[in-house]
Formats: sequence, C-alpha cells, structure tokens
Amino acid sequence: MTGVSTTIALTNAAQMLTLAGDEAARAGAAMRELGILEHATLVIEDGRIAWVGTHAEFTAKLAAGELAAPQVTHDCSGALIMPALIDTHTHLVWAGHRRDELELRLGGADYEQIFAAGGGILSSVRQTRAASEQQLYEQSLARITRMRSCGATTFEIKSGYGLDLESELRQLRVARRLRDEAGFRIKATCLAAHAIPEEARGSDDARAAFIDRICTQILPAVVGEGLADYADVFCDRGAFTKAEARKVCEAALRLGLELRLHANEFGHTGGAELAAELRARSADHLLHLSDEERAALREAGVVATLLPGTSLVLGKPYANGRALIEAGVPIAVATDCNPGSCALENLAVVLALASYGCKLTPAEAVVATTHNAAASLGLASEVGRLAPGLSADLLVIASNDYRELVYHAGSPLIREVWSRGQRVDRAPV
Ligand SMILES: [Zn+2]
Repeated sequence: MTGVSTTIALTNAAQMLTLAGDEAARAGAAMRELGILEHATLVIEDGRIAWVGTHAEFTAKLAAGELAAPQVTHDCSGALIMPALIDTHTHLVWAGHRRDELELRLGGADYEQIFAAGGGILSSVRQTRAASEQQLYEQSLARITRMRSCGATTFEIKSGYGLDLESELRQLRVARRLRDEAGFRIKATCLAAHAIPEEARGSDDARAAFIDRICTQILPAVVGEGLADYADVFCDRGAFTKAEARKVCEAALRLGLELRLHANEFGHTGGAELAAELRARSADHLLHLSDEERAALREAGVVATLLPGTSLVLGKPYANGRALIEAGVPIAVATDCNPGSCALENLAVVLALASYGCKLTPAEAVVATTHNAAASLGLASEVGRLAPGLSADLLVIASNDYRELVYHAGSPLIREVWSRGQRVDRAPV
C-alpha cells in the first residue's frame, strides 16, 4: 500500500463495547455478551481498527515500542465507545410525504382502511413515480444523512414505491448513488412485490400478470444491472399471499438473490413459514408468531428482524422479543423508516423501543442493532464489532454506561459518529 498511513488513537474510554466473538449471529444468552472493556483504547489505521485493549496495555505497548505512536490522539475519558448502529430494514428512498395520513390515523382511521382507500403505499408510489432520479436522490440523501447523525452508518434500502420496471430501477439506482457518490455502506433489496399497483387492481388476471412481470422482467433487469443484493416480498394480509410470495422468492433465488421477507405483521399469514422454508436471511416484523414458527426460524438460521417503531406509530402490539430469545432465534432491530407506517429515522431511539416494547434487555438491544444486524446483511467481517481488521465504524457516547441508551432514550448522548475511520457527524472543517 502506498501513501501516508494515518493512525488515530481513541483513548481511555470509560467503557468500550467490543462485542468480541465470531461472525455468527448471536442467539439466546449470547445476545447479552458485549465484550465490555473498561478504561479502553482503540487504534485506527487507514480507516480500519488496528488495535483494541485497555488503556494500561496501550501505554505499556507504546513504552515497549510494540505499538507505533499514533499521529492523532483523541481523549475519550468518561465516554462510551461502541460499534456504530446498522439499520437492516429501511424504505428510505421515496419522494414526497404522507403527513396527512398521520393525522387521519390519529383521528381514528386504521392503516388497512387507508390502504384500501388508495392511500398508504400507493400514495407514495404515485409521488415516487412522478419524481426524477435527481429529486429522489436529493430527498433520500437528506434523509440518510439525518439517520447517520443518529448513529447508523450501514443501511439496507428497499425499493417498492415504483412497482413498475423503470420506477423500481430508478429507486435502486438512487440507493447505488447513495453508496457510490455519498459513501454510505448500503445493501439494496428489490421489493417490487410491496403492493399491487393501481393499474393491476380489479381482476385476478391483472394481479397474476403483475406478479409474472416481477418474476420475468423486473427482477431480471435489477439483477442485470447489479442493483440489488436481496429480494423481499410483503407477504401479509392485504398484500401478497404465501403462494404469490413463493413464486417471487423462487424467481429471485434462481437469479442468485438472497431473501428478506416482510412476514407475520398482521397475522399468521405464512410469511415466517416461507422465510424458514426458503432459508431467508431475515424475516421482518413478526408480530404474530407461534412456537412452531419460532422453532422453524431457528432451525433455518433466519434472523428475526423486529421493527418496534412501526408498532409504536401504528398503535399495534410489539413483537415478543423474549419468546424469540428463549426460542434461540437471533434478533436484529431496525427502523423500518418509510413514508407511511413509520417515518422514524433514529435507530438509537428504536433500540430503546426494542427494550420497552419488545422486552429486550439493553445488552440484547445493542447486539440486535450492531453485530446481529451486520450478520443478517453478510457484513459481520466488516462492521458490528470493535476488533482488529474491521472497519472503524463506531460511536463515542457521552455516558460511561451503555444502559443509558435505553434509560435516557431520546437524549442527545451520541457525541461522535465515525465511519471508515472518519468523523461523519459534522461537516468537515
Ligand atoms: Zn418494511
């Protein structure tokens, strides 16, 4: 490697959550293992973590000449250092807004009623189809930049507000530009099977033809341009049946995409069973889950992704996190950031909601938003833990105890956000 290497030491943190361990997603009691060091120091070299240990070990190694003196030393006394958060379920590329629906819902209308009346997802589809790629990019860039300032540096982004070939491709191209031009770490998911578009409603034939178009046109074009890592289907009441979802999933698997599924949000609708049968990387929502469905997810190695922000906003029950922990299913937690059912952008707040709503302990909620999230995106060798070799994506928090992330949920405790060894929570000076 050529060029000058930059070494930065973040020194003497009161508490450091290393999450030391292997790359597998954690389940059961292992979800409470944070690998805590006290009075800890971390060395960054060329954007990667080069060394982690206690501050006493650090000073001893410096004195012995076993570690080179860092070019920059950043005193973190009294602070907490932990991995940056990872948001594994977002729909953050959309145009416009649905603030009016928020008022309708709070006035008593139900999400499924709004959807049936042509609102909901279809309203965002109309607004997103009407936007140019540049308009979509600018709106999405503002959004993801706010999300990063709240602590997340890695994102999964789904399409699904296009529902036709060109608009789905446009959404995914915007996700790619957020990665390539704006420098966010992103995995993309084609969710063309998010809703039946207006033009395909009203007859079974039109509905079947739309599903066929997803399988034979949209997914192949997306794969042809290399625009997605995953496919997803909204398998639930009012969306796609299990049989329809299976058809889309099998087409995606044939094209080499892995699966993440919207499952069991409104009932026992077959999504969780299908995720287990087809060995999806993740099954998401899971408000309604039987013992048999939990066992099937565990056996298939599917990560359960909980989205408690959506439960809060829609006034729905929370997923039962304790039952999943007891069943040995690894859990991730994400924002579900989208224009309708949950426009929350702050994953640190959703982490706390996973504790208050889904009954995860603070330690479990931390693992669910860091290492397990990385594992569900196939990124556990890159982010989610603080270990030599991984990317230096981390948070410096104005607290000496990680439990305050839940205890003082919503307070501005996150002092610094680092991605690839650089501070990203403020404009460069
Ligand atoms: Zn979603």
